[in-house]
Amino acid sequence: MSNIKIACPKCDWEPEASDRWQCSCGHTWNTFDTGGTCPKCKKRWKDTQCIGWRGGCNQWSPHIDWYRGLDELIKELLKVEESVF
Ligand SMILES: [Zn+2]
Ligand SMILES: [Zn+2]
Repeated sequence: MSNIKIACPKCDWEPEASDRWQCSCGHTWNTFDTGGTCPKCKKRWKDTQCIGWRGGCNQWSPHIDWYRGLDELIKELLKVEESVF
């Protein structure tokens, strides 16, 4: 998992552990700790907004697109499976 990094798909801004997103219920938390799910009301946010005042672009992107290196990881996993069979 070490080759996975989190960055905005549109502007490459990288959030830090201390960054917070606000849910429509008012709760604030780091959305990447929970895969986009609010820990308080359990609302699942399919899209994640880039934080403008922290240096981002303020645009919304699908949460999954923020995880860089995921495609490569899946390819690696498939390769391992292929070599087993
Ligand atoms: Zn919530
Ligand atoms: Zn951005």
